[in-house]
Amino acid sequence: MLIERIWSANPYRNFHYLIACPETGEALAVDPLEWQMCLDAARHKGWDITQILNTHEHLDHTGGNQGLVGATGAKVLAHADAATRIGGVDRGLAKGDVIRVGRTVVLECLDTPGHTRAHICLFGHDELPALFCGDTLFNAGAGNCHNGGDAGLLYDTFVAQLYRLPDSTRVFPGHEYLARNLEFTLDREPDNENARALLEKARLETPASATITTLKQEQDINTFFRLRSPTVIAKLREAFPEIGEQPDPRTVFLKLRELRNRW
Ligand SMILES: [Zn+2]
Ligand SMILES: [Zn+2]
Repeated sequence: MLIERIWSANPYRNFHYLIACPETGEALAVDPLEWQMCLDAARHKGWDITQILNTHEHLDHTGGNQGLVGATGAKVLAHADAATRIGGVDRGLAKGDVIRVGRTVVLECLDTPGHTRAHICLFGHDELPALFCGDTLFNAGAGNCHNGGDAGLLYDTFVAQLYRLPDSTRVFPGHEYLARNLEFTLDREPDNENARALLEKARLETPASATITTLKQEQDINTFFRLRSPTVIAKLREAFPEIGEQPDPRTVFLKLRELRNRW
């Protein structure tokens, strides 16, 4: 599985991805808003974009479909429950569906509601697995839920699905928010030395070269993976005394999400 991450340099801070088969050069584009950049990148590599995957229906993920379909004839794939809102979808997806790219790439569809109610993450089976997670999980952060989503569903998605993926999984989200998310982690957990070290590194990087984290790393630096951290809980109790001394992980997650909304 070949992966090309494309930094959009737009105000939304989108990351786009091309996932290609090394044997055939066929490629799938994930959320290609700046579709011309994706097309240029594919041509540079000698790849043919034959499929487009939208993780969810927001326009900053779907707005490039028409242009890229016009240029390539690629088929559009999206969550079956988001298909009518997106329009022009050739294949509606459900949990467990498999997407093949060329002869070698196998991508598994995870049904991951929370940021929206119909959101797909792609899990790429590989020696080093890859998760294309749209606006569900970010490097060091979690998606917001205020545009058609639900924070309780997002928690369920994290617990039942994301926490269970292999530690070695690389995290490829829809936007570049690494430094900002690490600042939130440190606001909640000032003694998190891993987050502090990565923030220093992130501040020296350009968005195009930003660190690609693994789920193992997320367990150390992402507040939304650290729901049992004594520091996280103690700090949270300062803001929400009513949660008591031993809040359950769901409560911690929901309160963190609430704080992040206005942070
Ligand atoms: Zn979104
Ligand atoms: Zn987005």
